[in-house]
Amino acid sequence: MPTSPLDILAIAAHRDDVEQTCGGTMLKMAQRGHRTGILDLTQGEMGTRGTAEDRAREAAEAAKILCVSWRHALDIPDGRVENTWENRLKVARVIREQRPRVVILPYWKGRHPDHYTASALGYEACFLAGLAKLAVSPQPSAVQGHGFSRAESNPKDRGASAPEGLPPHRPFKIIYATLYYDIRPTFVVDITEQLEARFQSVIAYKSQFSDQQAGKDIFPAHAEIRSRTEAMARYYGMLAGVTYAEPFLQKEIGLVEDLTLIPVKSI
Ligand SMILES: [Zn+2]
Repeated sequence: MPTSPLDILAIAAHRDDVEQTCGGTMLKMAQRGHRTGILDLTQGEMGTRGTAEDRAREAAEAAKILCVSWRHALDIPDGRVENTWENRLKVARVIREQRPRVVILPYWKGRHPDHYTASALGYEACFLAGLAKLAVSPQPSAVQGHGFSRAESNPKDRGASAPEGLPPHRPFKIIYATLYYDIRPTFVVDITEQLEARFQSVIAYKSQFSDQQAGKDIFPAHAEIRSRTEAMARYYGMLAGVTYAEPFLQKEIGLVEDLTLIPVKSI
């Protein structure tokens, strides 16, 4: 039997990107009963601190904190995320397997090439995944990493369940997490209740965020991260009249049914 579809899949270049840009939203959606998942394109082998194995453990811990149902890391080289046909197929395969209704991608501009490339790669993979005539066979070996998903537990079963290849699937909605880039979002998600857990999910990446300089313990680093992430969340919260929020952009126009129910006060 295939796994039940994800309601929301967040795709990002690096382990910890989702935690930093939309971790509070992911937790909030899980708390609302949605089935959420994270696809990391790389495994973090180029990080100056820690190994890919360290990152895998930390990513699993962070996923638990955010109540994520499914998480995988692809084998795309860290620091070399390229929008190639092969990589688009890898992501399209995951989209067909997990069948998300909503996909969260990184915003398409940014400082780190992996981030903005992941945006275009993710979008084009969503498109490809929906092409009826494109055959995408399940290839469990292409999906590596850690996790706790049923999909990973028995690759033979998964292959057997879709002998003709995976059926097409195109997500209904694609939104972009913009926190890494200075742009006005089109909407924000109130994460006031989730802020502390989001912080815990970020510092779960101990190899990344612990202050390892001689003479310092981990607390200054944590204080700095807390202060920075709170300030950002406070800013986006303020834009919508709530305490803390995470910013997103959608390309489509907003659709309103009832003018009296539009949130966010004008004056
Ligand atoms: Zn990153």
